[in-house]
Amino acid sequence: MKLTFLGTGTSTGVPSVGCDCETCLSNDPKDKRLRVSILIEHSGKTILVDTSIDFRQQALRAGIKYLDAVLITHAHVDHVFGLDDIRPLNFRYGAMPIYADEIAWTGLKQFFHYIFKPTHIGGGLPQLIPHTIVKNAPFCIGKDLEITPLEVIHGKLPVIAYRFNDFAYATDLNYISDETIDGLRDLDVLVLDCVRIKPHSTHLGLNEALEYIERIKPKRAFLTHLNHDIMYGRDKQLLPDNVQFGYDGLVVED
Ligand SMILES: [Zn+2]
Ligand SMILES: [Zn+2]
Repeated sequence: MKLTFLGTGTSTGVPSVGCDCETCLSNDPKDKRLRVSILIEHSGKTILVDTSIDFRQQALRAGIKYLDAVLITHAHVDHVFGLDDIRPLNFRYGAMPIYADEIAWTGLKQFFHYIFKPTHIGGGLPQLIPHTIVKNAPFCIGKDLEITPLEVIHGKLPVIAYRFNDFAYATDLNYISDETIDGLRDLDVLVLDCVRIKPHSTHLGLNEALEYIERIKPKRAFLTHLNHDIMYGRDKQLLPDNVQFGYDGLVVED
């Protein structure tokens, strides 16, 4: 399994527009964060999680040439507003399978109503092959990539975390149920939300993230959805040995 962090920033990205804080002015490339998204590659399959608002830039930067599928965690702007930019892949390869739960499909149909209206005139439309996923119901893409959607809670919104064999990606959450914790047992790699050092009402703060990592016990954990309170070089010493901050371009392989 190969996981590439395409973006590790909170909804505003880092640097944040108009901000002169130490992190936003940092020259460390690990403090430059596009909006969160990952690429999973396994057994010849390439899967994108979320078409972030920075998808075009991320795809160019990572050299994405083909995607077997897109998985959606939830329909918040930072996670889905790059959906229109899958069109160049449609032009070359045709319609793209997109997996989302019922709640996320409702949001996608509101944001991207023109895609779903047969009356739309002019302009190339993204071509989707929609799949509706259900929590705790695994599905396969290819022969040996099993994907399990797991529910986490983001304020009041149920969001889908995805398990890929022994890797899992859980962002945009402030609560994980015991049932989902059971679904996250025996992981090699867990990518987990951590928006900032202090607690937050719809995301995990650092202590809450570390407490969940203690309970879930993955071999390695990576924190993502980081805002400008977190400066990579300064704050990495706050983390235990098996945990690190993600950064754009980081590749994790088993
Ligand atoms: Zn987000
Ligand atoms: Zn969100």
